Amino acid sequence: MKSAAKAQQAEDSTTDTGAQQIRDAIREAIVERRLSPGTKLSESDVGNLFNVSRTLARAALQALSYEGLVSVEKNRGAFVAYPSPEEARQIFSARRLVEPGILREAAARITPDDITHLRQLLLEEGRLMSERGQTARRAEIKASGDFHLTLAMISGNSIMQRFMEELVARSSLVIALYGQSTASSCGHSEHGDIISAIEADELDRACQLMLHHIAHIEADLDLRERKSLGLKEAFEL
Ligand SMILES: [Zn+2]
Repeated sequence: MKSAAKAQQAEDSTTDTGAQQIRDAIREAIVERRLSPGTKLSESDVGNLFNVSRTLARAALQALSYEGLVSVEKNRGAFVAYPSPEEARQIFSARRLVEPGILREAAARITPDDITHLRQLLLEEGRLMSERGQTARRAEIKASGDFHLTLAMISGNSIMQRFMEELVARSSLVIALYGQSTASSCGHSEHGDIISAIEADELDRACQLMLHHIAHIEADLDLRERKSLGLKEAFEL
């Protein structure tokens, strides 16, 4: 009995790991904008791609739908989410509320090694910005998101970290849909100023810089409601 229970437990945890790995892989593809908003994600395709059962694929898609990255529609299946302008505003409003708090927590615990790590991320981001090509662009988008995620990791609060993973990924979807410039999700050289302010122990300034930074990302979006016109309306002048 005991071993059966153990075996079951092991099986359960493999299932969890499997679904989690798929979820992380799909999230990363969304963050890097390899997957566009509205893309169909069928259970069988996801299962075949990752060589897992449909049940496991479904579990991964379900988990992503809880994060708001996938929308599951009755009888139609799962799609990469297509955030509305209102959702987009709420995502950035949430970031303005949450990120200064994360920054303060992180600053209280930050070590010289963490600072070095953040600076390395910045260098990598800068290097990728000067490179051409899609692969470099994707890596740059990821590096710019990693800056925000690393601060959450340094804060030591795993709940906040997961929340930020969700917010960064959802921001990426919003930027893919409504972004006007071709710059990365951050696109400004503001990360460095934030690190310098933390290093100088100027926390209020660091928080202000973070708020400005989030406002800049949002300012690059065109969040006007885009009503799709009917055939007749489209040709009426
Ligand atoms: Zn940023």
